Amino acid sequence: MASTLEKEIRSKIDDVKVSTRTTATTTIYILGLDPTTKDDEIKRALVTETKLAATDINIIALRKGKYEDQTAIVEIPKSQAMALVKLKRIRIGWGECGIRERINVVRCFKCLEHGHKTRECTAQVDRSDECIKCGEKGHKSRGCQNRVRCVKCAVDGHRADQIKCPHFKKIVEELRRQRIELGGTNSRQGKKDHAP
Ligand SMILES: [Zn+2]
Ligand SMILES: [Zn+2]
Ligand SMILES: [Zn+2]
Repeated sequence: MASTLEKEIRSKIDDVKVSTRTTATTTIYILGLDPTTKDDEIKRALVTETKLAATDINIIALRKGKYEDQTAIVEIPKSQAMALVKLKRIRIGWGECGIRERINVVRCFKCLEHGHKTRECTAQVDRSDECIKCGEKGHKSRGCQNRVRCVKCAVDGHRADQIKCPHFKKIVEELRRQRIELGGTNSRQGKKDHAP
């Protein structure tokens, strides 16, 4: 009986053509890349370091850094990503590059605080009608043309969901510390803000 059922399920699975991308992935940043470094060079270095196949490494973007350097955003299987994060650096091109995990911070849409989901919110205040960019009521941040104002610090110049905000930075740093200690992240559902 059980084997018949299994056969039936298997035949169905074969019909559906299950995606080969079944492993959980983590997004990492590679910082301080030489300005001339290209995608394939990064891939090669990661293949050498992780022993992964090049097809398991997905370079999402290669962006200009603060100075003359570049930052790569790379998606790779979770266990190899965490090994790299622990390693902290990798040699690519001319120099040593830093490795950091992209931290996903959950944001509550009711009280606008970070670190918990809307349905877990225990706050008395409801700020769901406030804009996270300027702090004013009645509109959402998408398309907001007002000056940037942090609703947490009550000062102009940065948003409450940016790494420039000391409150937000503290949450990100705490999460980063915990993740490194635990050796991995759990993929979480819901809206996230990304921080390098
Ligand atoms: Zn909340
Ligand atoms: Zn606004
Ligand atoms: Zn702030």
